[in-house]
Amino acid sequence: MFDCIIIGAGIAGMVTARMMARAGMNILIIDDSQKNAASRVAAGLVNPITGKRFQASWRFAEFLNLGLLQYALFAEQDSQEAYLKNTPMIRLFVDEKEREVFYDKIGTLNATEFVGEMLESGTNQLDTSIRNEHGGYRTLQAHVFDYGRFLDVSGSMFRNNILNTFVAPHHIESKDGYWSVSTGNGSIHGKTILFCDGWLASKNPWLFDASLKFDIVKGESCIIQSIDLPETDIISQGFAIRPIGNHRFRCAATFQWNEATTIPTAFGAERLMQRIQSLINCEYEILEQSAGLRPTMLHHLPFLGEHPNHKGIFMLGGLGTKGALYAPHMAQQLVHHFSKGEQFDEEMDISKQHTRFAIH
Ligand SMILES: Cc1cc2nc3c(=O)[nH]c(=O)nc-3n(C[C@H](O)[C@H](O)[C@H](O)COP(=O)(O)OP(=O)(O)OC[C@H]3O[C@@H](n4cnc5c(N)ncnc54)[C@H](O)[C@@H]3O)c2cc1C
Repeated sequence: MFDCIIIGAGIAGMVTARMMARAGMNILIIDDSQKNAASRVAAGLVNPITGKRFQASWRFAEFLNLGLLQYALFAEQDSQEAYLKNTPMIRLFVDEKEREVFYDKIGTLNATEFVGEMLESGTNQLDTSIRNEHGGYRTLQAHVFDYGRFLDVSGSMFRNNILNTFVAPHHIESKDGYWSVSTGNGSIHGKTILFCDGWLASKNPWLFDASLKFDIVKGESCIIQSIDLPETDIISQGFAIRPIGNHRFRCAATFQWNEATTIPTAFGAERLMQRIQSLINCEYEILEQSAGLRPTMLHHLPFLGEHPNHKGIFMLGGLGTKGALYAPHMAQQLVHHFSKGEQFDEEMDISKQHTRFAIH
């Protein structure tokens, strides 16, 4: 009998699994190894200033500090380089209007502490391969999380505790005081079930009978190669070009609201090229393109908690564009709940915030 059966091995499931295992819990992870899971295509940016109005990301310092600590512990345990690294980032204004919004708000910004050197157009502050037409600023405290390496290393660590299959939600049943999950190879039993199923939560009937307000957003990204572009900074404009070594750069991501598929498209490729060309003016070649679905709630808040009518069914999701930033805090909340009976963070607790999360 497992203490917890975790369904989904993206960043949410994997960070939680590792923290539960460290707390001595006996866990099993079930995942159908989708190549296009959001965590497999994420760009990995952890950006302190987000949105068109240059707001500080929600509870940024608190979540970042915990993330730095937890990811450093994982890296040490895995004998790996840091998974989460502070990385220089340049934010360029899209146009004069955006530049004005920034300067209008700068006095009142709750994000001022993350604004470094200001960049002016027509100066030699940046390499000529970067289009600096309207100025911008250097972002302080921007980080990059290596999703792929973290998931691969964690996956091999849990190789005896991962089942590669899809679980149909109606194959999960309550027995006398425990939960039974039927898979192609028989039944598995757990005291609790934790759904970390990413965007598929929007189709999961266990999540309050699917009455949550989901707003799934497709994102396409690509890897380019350019020998002219410096490999020093991330260049960002909401869309980002991030150096990943050997003159290659990950470019991400588009936002497409009306298409819930993980298939890269010609339309996506066109959008990606437009965004790339608005940031750089040098030669580049697209090496590969991918697409994924961001598991986003209508109010852009992540959720976690226990199902009000089915004791032992837990859920953690809605990480939106900020999986790497939110996952450690949310996983820690769950572990403290299981080990010490602590209440969940009120702002995320689905039982306290149900009206905010639910359709009705
Ligand atoms: C193009 C793009 C760019 C992004 N860029 C960034 C970024 O720069 N920084 C950042 O922090 N975030 C970024 N994100 C967001 C980030 O990817 C997500 O917040 C995060 O990956 C969500 O993780 P998750 O574990 O909740 O879901 P997922 O990564 O989707 O994982 C869910 C897993 O559960 C499995 N699963 C679901 N249901 C079942 C079932 N019934 N049985 C078995 N397995 C199941 C799926 O196959 C999947 O492996 C980006 C997303 C996209 C799409």
